[in-house]
Amino acid sequence: MTATLIDGTAVARELRETLRARVAAARAAGTSPGLAVVIVGDNPASRVYVRNKARACADIGIHSEIHELSADAPPGALLERIAVLNRDPSIHGILVQLPLPPGHDTARVLEAIDVSKDVDGFHPYNQGLLVDGRCPLPPCTPAGVMALLAHSRTEVAGADAVVVGRSHIVGKPLALMLVNAGATVTVCHSRTRDLARQTASADILVVAIGRPRMIGAGMVKPGATVIDVGINRLDDGKLAGDVDFDAVAGRAGKITPVPGGVGPMTIAMLLTNTVHAAERRAGLGS
Ligand code: NAP
Repeated sequence: MTATLIDGTAVARELRETLRARVAAARAAGTSPGLAVVIVGDNPASRVYVRNKARACADIGIHSEIHELSADAPPGALLERIAVLNRDPSIHGILVQLPLPPGHDTARVLEAIDVSKDVDGFHPYNQGLLVDGRCPLPPCTPAGVMALLAHSRTEVAGADAVVVGRSHIVGKPLALMLVNAGATVTVCHSRTRDLARQTASADILVVAIGRPRMIGAGMVKPGATVIDVGINRLDDGKLAGDVDFDAVAGRAGKITPVPGGVGPMTIAMLLTNTVHAAERRAGLGS
């Protein structure tokens, strides 16, 4: 391996230390940051994610609540729970764990969350603010990618950046963030004609596809910074990213591993948004 490893676990740990101090300061000023996570049904992966989020909150002193609704709860019950949490002054962040079971209108559910408590950054209002870089609660995974680029001192302004994937939660918001940071951005997806030609031109390559090890060394520009968002469970139970790490690490300049790259940053940014939402509500900090 010749590339420098971008260690998301270490960066997230540093961030959590800063947040721990901000939580303590908010508490001293009379505000205890609170996060409510709503889970509908019993999707095992969702349960693991929710448990990890609650644990991460506890670790830095954020109060967290898990609100469970059964898989057959009517859509109205979910909307009513969100309305209750919107009014609850002890809750500063609300996150509805996705995906929702069939029968729920995800867009309507996300729009029901008070924009000032939208710590996932998925509300259309907050997505709109992303366009000109004014979003106070940016979506967590793209914000985590930007934080890793900053931490690894990757020059974004003027760089040619290629984002592979155009989902609402990763690819599209990340493309906006990179444009706002001064990169020249290309967004690729399943209809892109010559993916390798695009990716090989990137100074910064971010991959969020959901296909294990799809990006090989020949698709990467020598010296590029490669950020792998993908999380794929292999048949042997191990996790792999969308990038063929062993091959690409011999060609890239900097690279994130999976696990231990973007994943820990996503949770760290959720905590950041929750603390930020609480500070704003209390008139503290920025
Ligand atoms: P998604 O909604 O399924 O979107 C996947 C994107 O990849 C789509 O835009 C799709 O194109 C594109 N794509 C699929 N096959 C392709 C191909 N052969 N060539 C080029 N583009 C292709 O996925 P997502 O929610 O953005 O997540 C992507 C990956 O990131 C998954 O592995 C997910 O588990 C992971 N993830 C990780 C974190 C984290 O915290 N690390 C957070 C979120 C997601 P079309 O739009 O044309 O279909």
